[in-house]
Amino acid sequence: MNPGDIISSLRTNCRRGRVFAEHVPLRCICGVFDWERLEPSTLFADIAITYDWSDCVASDEIADALDYAAVASEAMAFAEKTQYHLVESLANSICRHLLSTFRRALAVELKIKKKHPSYSGTSTSFACATSERRSLAVLGIGSNLGDSNLAIKETVKLIGAIPHCRLLRSSSLHRTAPLLFTEQPEFLNRALLIETLLSPAELLGETQAIENAMGRLRQVRHGPRTIDIDLLLFEGVTSSAIALTVPHHGLRSRRFCIEELADLGLGIVPETESVMEQGCEQIEPGESF
Ligand code: AMP
Repeated sequence: MNPGDIISSLRTNCRRGRVFAEHVPLRCICGVFDWERLEPSTLFADIAITYDWSDCVASDEIADALDYAAVASEAMAFAEKTQYHLVESLANSICRHLLSTFRRALAVELKIKKKHPSYSGTSTSFACATSERRSLAVLGIGSNLGDSNLAIKETVKLIGAIPHCRLLRSSSLHRTAPLLFTEQPEFLNRALLIETLLSPAELLGETQAIENAMGRLRQVRHGPRTIDIDLLLFEGVTSSAIALTVPHHGLRSRRFCIEELADLGLGIVPETESVMEQGCEQIEPGESF
């Protein structure tokens, strides 16, 4: 399996379908000219929502389906409260708002039409389209300096508070032997399965801000650190840039990664058999949030 797709295996029971809410009127202030911003005008939105149909097709009950009338109302109510210069910005924030509001939604596609744009002097309509989706990701947390237990607990809380991120499950907590630079204390490690609307780069920016906020200290490369957060997996993404390698380069060569991903329901094959001889002891079970 392509390493970027490993995490998608968590969605194997998912039966995807799309519902559409079309020609939804959005009353809002949106435009670059001062006179356009004096009072709301009406734009029109075509919205497509992808969600997991498994429950509703099995039960044939409306309660298990995504309410597309509610989707249209939510988009209208949200647009009314916003003010943007660009239709592009409005479209992006409506997509994210709908994904945050409708937990069942996996992706939102949105086209916004603006009739007779002010600058064209013609009757041409303008439209822009975008899409946003909910992604699964796995973050690995490690610490071996100071009160590591407390640092990991605090980091889990801060990750849960990242905007547009939701904690789904945590792996067991492991005490692990240091690798590469072995003259240092043992580590505590835990992995988290999260759901996010952020891109991998945005997520990494947020986790680096948490490392800084936690007073991350690390004097020696591969040496002791108060806290370290790695982006181990991101749904559908395989990237090998220096700033961001996903799946994480150490995934298959670290026993704790393999054990913690298994806790989260993800089977990873170790790089070599000797990987499973590394010191790694489970000291606390995982949990679902
Ligand atoms: P470290 O502190 O050893 O985890 O390394 C942090 C550096 O690795 C940062 O400059 C990141 O931009 C880079 N990096 C590349 N891929 C990843 C990843 N998957 N997760 C976290 N950091 C990464």
